[in-house]
Order: sequence, then C-alpha cells, then structure tokens
Amino acid sequence: MKRSFLALLAAAYVLSGCSILASGLSNVDPTTLATAANTAMTALTISDEQIAQLSAQSVAYMDSVNKVDKGAYDTRLRKLMSKVKTVNGVPINLKVYKTNEVNAFACGDGSIRVYSGLMDVMDDAELMAVIGHEIGHVVNKDTKNAMKKTYMAYAARLALGSTGSVLGSLSTSVLGDIAQSYLNAQYSQKQEFAADAAGFQFAIDQGYSPYSMYNSLVKLMKLNGESSTKPSGTQTAFSSHPATEERAARMKAAAEAYGK
Ligand SMILES: [Zn+2]
Repeated sequence: MKRSFLALLAAAYVLSGCSILASGLSNVDPTTLATAANTAMTALTISDEQIAQLSAQSVAYMDSVNKVDKGAYDTRLRKLMSKVKTVNGVPINLKVYKTNEVNAFACGDGSIRVYSGLMDVMDDAELMAVIGHEIGHVVNKDTKNAMKKTYMAYAARLALGSTGSVLGSLSTSVLGDIAQSYLNAQYSQKQEFAADAAGFQFAIDQGYSPYSMYNSLVKLMKLNGESSTKPSGTQTAFSSHPATEERAARMKAAAEAYGK
C-alpha cells in the first residue's frame, strides 16, 4: 500500500471522528493527496484483516509525519497509562505527537496517539477520560466502520468494480471531493454518547473522579467557543460535534448519579 493512500486514511482518522476533535487536513500535504491519483487501489470489498493492516500502516504513516515526543509528554502519558495494557485485547502502543493541535485518536491495532496540545489543556483526569472515549470508539467498532466507510467511498469515487483492482487516475478536484467526504464524516450522536460512557467508566476505573469526562467536555466546549468565555475567531474543530452540550449534560448527570 502506497504512502499516499495511507495519508488519506490517516486523515480519515483525524477527520471522521476517530479523534475527539477534527482538526483539518494539516497532516496531509497537497502533493501527497495528488499522488494518490496514481495509487493502485484494491477492490470495493475489504476484509477485517485488511482493515487491521491498514490501521497499523496508517498509524505508522501518522508517526512518520508527526514529531513524536520523547520527553516530558511521553513520560506523563506512560505514567498515566501504566496500568492499561490492552485495547480490546490488543497490546497498547502509546505515542505523543508534539503539536499544538488539541486531539487524540485510538485505533484497532492498539495504537493510542495523544497530541501534546491536548495534554497542555487537560489535567490528568480529563486526559484519561478523553483517552477512554477514544478507546470506546475502538471497542465499539466505530473506528473500524469509519475507516471502512472512508475506504469504500474512496474506492467508489474511483469507480472501481466490486471485485478486482483498478489503477485510479483522479483529477485533483475529485481528490478534493474525497478529502471533503472525510471532513464531513462524523460519528453519530449515539456513537458519541457510547464513547463518552466508555470514557466516563475508564476514568473511574483508573481512579479518577466520575466528573472527569464531563470536565473534559466542558473544557473542549470552552476551547471551541461553545461558551461565552471563548475569544471570537478561534478555530473551532470541535464544532463538528454540535451537540456537545447535550453530551456534557449527560455526563454530568451520570457523575451525579454515580455511587448514589
Ligand atoms: Zn468521539
């Protein structure tokens, strides 16, 4: 699998809601997208094994284009996650990307990637809730399904048949459309509720307050201008999660009910 397609898949991770915050195509340069035009694509059908392989390969790609922290961020994350050995039965693989982006994602190959920008704004409890939320998307197969959907959409745009492989030859405008389809893709409210519930429980299991998930959502809303405290004009990646307020309300109610 060529790197260029991996770039698209990697973008899909960040943009399709695999991550808690969609943050734009910043990790994929136009040249990379253009090269995808010449990438050989496999069939419209894709097996779970292929999805698993693509997960690992696309995370490897993400690792190669991001600055992986080897210092204090990495130390903090490993310390926080020291009791967590697996995601869905798969050994975890942790890395911090050193970037101001407020983001994180997890994938079915056990990879958990946390952006230092997220670590800067979240305290330990909130950070763990966010990580638990991302793990929830993996456990609930949201990540896998989103990836599959992205792949299928890409293959369909290449007008591939349902069997066999075809060499795609795409104009940049078509590639732009593909990128747009990732940009617009997002998890359903139901999927987000379920991932929030996973983050809620994960934080508690790791010894943190039942309010951790709620607090992290409130913080994200503030950062993204869904509250009066936010300076205008701030890039609002999180606005792709329009019903965040309802999610936060549910998490607050769950925290209040916890232990009663
Ligand atoms: Zn989510």
